Amino acid sequence: MVSKVLSPATVSLHADEAFRTDQAISPPICQSVNYLAEGPEDFARKAVEPHNDMFYGRHGNPTAKRLAKIVADLEGAEAGLVLSSGMGAMTTAILTFVAQGDHIVAQDGHYSSISNFLRNVLTRYGVETSFVDQTKPEAFAAAIRPNTKLILIETPVNPLATLTDLKAMAKVAKAADVLTICDNTFASPINQKPLSFGIDLVVHSATKYIGGHHDLLAGIVVGSQAHLDAIWDTSMDLGPIGAPFDAWLAMRGLRTLKARMDIHNANAMKIATFLEGHTAVADVYYPGLTSHPQHALAKRQMTGFGGMVTFDLKDGYDAGIAFISRLRLCLNAPSLGGVETLVVQPAVMFRARLTDEQIRAQGVTLGMIRMSVGIEDVGDLIEDIEQALNRT
Ligand SMILES: *Cc1c(COP(=O)(O)O)cnc(C)c1O
Repeated sequence: MVSKVLSPATVSLHADEAFRTDQAISPPICQSVNYLAEGPEDFARKAVEPHNDMFYGRHGNPTAKRLAKIVADLEGAEAGLVLSSGMGAMTTAILTFVAQGDHIVAQDGHYSSISNFLRNVLTRYGVETSFVDQTKPEAFAAAIRPNTKLILIETPVNPLATLTDLKAMAKVAKAADVLTICDNTFASPINQKPLSFGIDLVVHSATKYIGGHHDLLAGIVVGSQAHLDAIWDTSMDLGPIGAPFDAWLAMRGLRTLKARMDIHNANAMKIATFLEGHTAVADVYYPGLTSHPQHALAKRQMTGFGGMVTFDLKDGYDAGIAFISRLRLCLNAPSLGGVETLVVQPAVMFRARLTDEQIRAQGVTLGMIRMSVGIEDVGDLIEDIEQALNRT
C-alpha cells in the first residue's frame, strides 16, 4: 500500500497496488455479477459482510472497489463507495442519515437535482430542509434545530462560483453534533480536500472531473469506515451500486486527473482574465480572480480554482444565443469537467419553465454563459471565444 505522503499525481496511479493480483500494469475489469462460495460458512459470511465485492453484484464489485480506494486515498478518507451516478451517491448518503421527523440544513444553491430531491422527495417522507445563505456560516448555525441531523454543502457552486467556508462549517457542525456532507465535484480532489477541514463525508459526481472524458456516469462517497458501512447498507436495499465498466473508465480517468486539473486550472484562469478585459462582458465569476468576492477564502481552502468560468454578456439573452452559435471549438452541451470545453446559457434551459423574473431571482442573468473550460490549447480557445464575442 502506498503511503499518504505521496503527492496526488502519484496516488492516483499507485494507491491501487495492494489489489494487484496479476502482472498487469492496467487494472482488469471484473464484469462477473456473482462469485463462487467456498462452502456454506463462506457463503453465509459473504452474504452479510459490508462491502463484500465478491458475492453478488448489488453488494459491490472488485473494479468499483479499486476506484473507491483511490478516491478515498486522494481525499484522505478511510473508506469509499462507488454508486451509479453523483445523484445516486448523494441520495444514498442522505437517506442513510435521516428518518421521518428529521431536519437538514442546506444551501440556497445546490446542484439542481439535489435541491429538487430535498424539496420534492424528502418532504414526502417527513424530512424537512432549511435553505440558508452559503456565504454565512452563522446562518447555518441559526437554522439548526434539535432534530437537525445533516448539514449539506457544495463549494464552489453554480451559477456564480459561490463558496462555502469549509472550516467554519465543520466548526458549526461539530458544536451542534451534526453530520456534514460536502459535494466536492466542481473542485475535484486535486483542488480541494474538505475532510482536511473537518467535513465528515465528501461526494463526487465522477461523471465530471474524475472521469474527465464525457463517457461514464458514476458517483463516489468517501469518509470514515463506520459511515461508509452504514451507507453501504442503504445502497444494498436501494440498489444504485456503481457498475464495473463505468468504474473502470473512471479509474482510467483518474490516472491523468492531476495533469488534467493543472491544465483546467491554468486555462480557466487565462480565459477568466481575458473575459474580464473584454468590452462585451459585464461580469466574470471565477474564484481565482481577485475581483471574486470570496477570493481570499478560495485561496485558503483551494489549491487550484478549477475549470468552471461564468460570465455575463452585457447585451443579454440574444447576445448569448449569438455567441454560442458562433463558437467553433467550444461545444454547446450539458455536463462539465471533461477534456473538451463546453458552454451553456442557463437561461435557455430555465425559460422552458420559468419567467424571466424567476430566472433573475435565482441569480441567473439572461445573458449568462457557463463555460467548463477543457484542456485544449488555451490560445486556440481564446481565439474562438474572441471571434464569437467580437461579432455580438
Ligand atoms: C453533475 C453533478 C451532480 C450529479 O451527478 P450525476 O453523475 O449527473 O448524477 C452532483 N453535483 C454536482 C456539483 C454536479 O456537477
